[in-house]
Amino acid sequence: MLLATLGAVPEPKSILVVEDNAALRETLVDALRAVTQRVREAATLAEATAACVAEPPDLVVLDLGLPDGDGSMLLGALRALTMVPVIVLSGREDEDEKVALLDAGADDFIIKPCSAAELLARVRGQLRRSAASAAARTWAHIVADGVEIDLVEQRVVRHGVPQKLTPTEWLLLRALVMHAGRPATPRQLWDMVWSREFGDPSVHIRVHITHLRRKIEPDPSKPRLIVTEPGVGYRFVVP
Ligand code: CA
Repeated sequence: MLLATLGAVPEPKSILVVEDNAALRETLVDALRAVTQRVREAATLAEATAACVAEPPDLVVLDLGLPDGDGSMLLGALRALTMVPVIVLSGREDEDEKVALLDAGADDFIIKPCSAAELLARVRGQLRRSAASAAARTWAHIVADGVEIDLVEQRVVRHGVPQKLTPTEWLLLRALVMHAGRPATPRQLWDMVWSREFGDPSVHIRVHITHLRRKIEPDPSKPRLIVTEPGVGYRFVVP
């Protein structure tokens, strides 16, 4: 009975595959359908970030060499808010890099090319591990003076009063948290949340930030979570 429990791999709600090589991405997605029906895919760093903002995945398979940047940037952003398993796909054999990736918070890595069997074994191993650890399942739970934010349950309680955020405000909040500790320009936030090309990002973002601050800041007149970076944009400060 105990062995059966330990051996069981719970079906994750979703896995995100980040790989710019279309043929390889297809292969990975097909293989991972053995684990969950909901395998999402991204070909660029920007798409991957937007995918994480739209819906937090339960596991990420991450290529490093992406057309718009290095996958390790996403790893860093994810580690600011979640211990969700990240398996790095690397075409590189460099030992120092493997160590650096593990130090940066990767849970495992696979050297390309890899077999479907090896990929599934690694993925199942990480899912088993995360099922046993509440921390790995949980996306950031943010607690500041009198404010509690649960990004997965989409719950904000401010000074004892539950706050109702709109779907857009949740997307914007996740985008800010994905960028935690680093300044984000209105354009970057806009691309993560709206992914469309019209409108003036700075005006829209400013309006939504104002609304968000009223709901999540301990004191909206003195923002501590969403701080303005003069001339640049905004920075989310993890308390
Ligand atoms: Ca690549």
